[in-house]
Amino acid sequence: MRLVIGHLYADLMSVYGDRGNVIALAQRCAWRGIAAEVRPIGIGEAVDLRAFDVLVFGGGQDQDQLTVCDDLQAVKGAALRDAVADGLVMLAVCGGYQLLGYYFRLGSGEVLPGLGIIDAYTVAGRRRLIGNAVVRCPWAGSPAPTLVGFENHSGQTFLHSARPLGAVVLGSGNNGRDGGEGAVQLNVFGTYLHGPLLPKNPWFADHLLTLALRRRYGADAALPPLDDALEQRAHEAVRRRALRLGRQLTGVR
Ligand code: GLN
Repeated sequence: MRLVIGHLYADLMSVYGDRGNVIALAQRCAWRGIAAEVRPIGIGEAVDLRAFDVLVFGGGQDQDQLTVCDDLQAVKGAALRDAVADGLVMLAVCGGYQLLGYYFRLGSGEVLPGLGIIDAYTVAGRRRLIGNAVVRCPWAGSPAPTLVGFENHSGQTFLHSARPLGAVVLGSGNNGRDGGEGAVQLNVFGTYLHGPLLPKNPWFADHLLTLALRRRYGADAALPPLDDALEQRAHEAVRRRALRLGRQLTGVR
């Protein structure tokens, strides 16, 4: 089996270790004998995105989002919409997530149009939402697995029909108000969690890979299990530490 992983705007949109998401996906394929090819996709490149299996779109500064926004509107938008409708699996983090919604209104008032792939919009708030985050994902099983990560964003995202990726246990999530974090629409997953996300949350990396394998090889395709003992310990250590420190800071008991 073979999977092609696209890294969208790898040079401009990869803050707080977001590149590690691509490395984690490729490595978890390699450990299982699945050939994973990583292809960066840059500004100006018009490619058939349906040929990809997983697309990773990281976060970035407002300034870099301006450049990327122009390219999405002029060059890649139609191909991305087609690929998403075809079941493409996508992980979009923070700045990338914002540009998949309808728009991101910056603090300056300027509006960056998005692609409307995720039914949501984003407006910059007065204060940045920064810190460690823990999120519960009841849709992924019982007991609900958690995601741990780090968030740093001015944008506050509000969902319409998209469902949240998880419920905030610690942190601000989409907007610091409604308790939701991230968004899921078709096989597109938006999140504010950096860290990088996937090495610390191997169950979620495998969820993305499973969806990608099923799209390419049929509903019976399954990932052989890996020994994730070390990854689980790392996840657990980060989760406990974040909750302990977060509670100390906020005074929550
Ligand atoms: N520039 C965006 C914001 O501040 C995204 C930041 C990020 O990707 N970390 O909201």
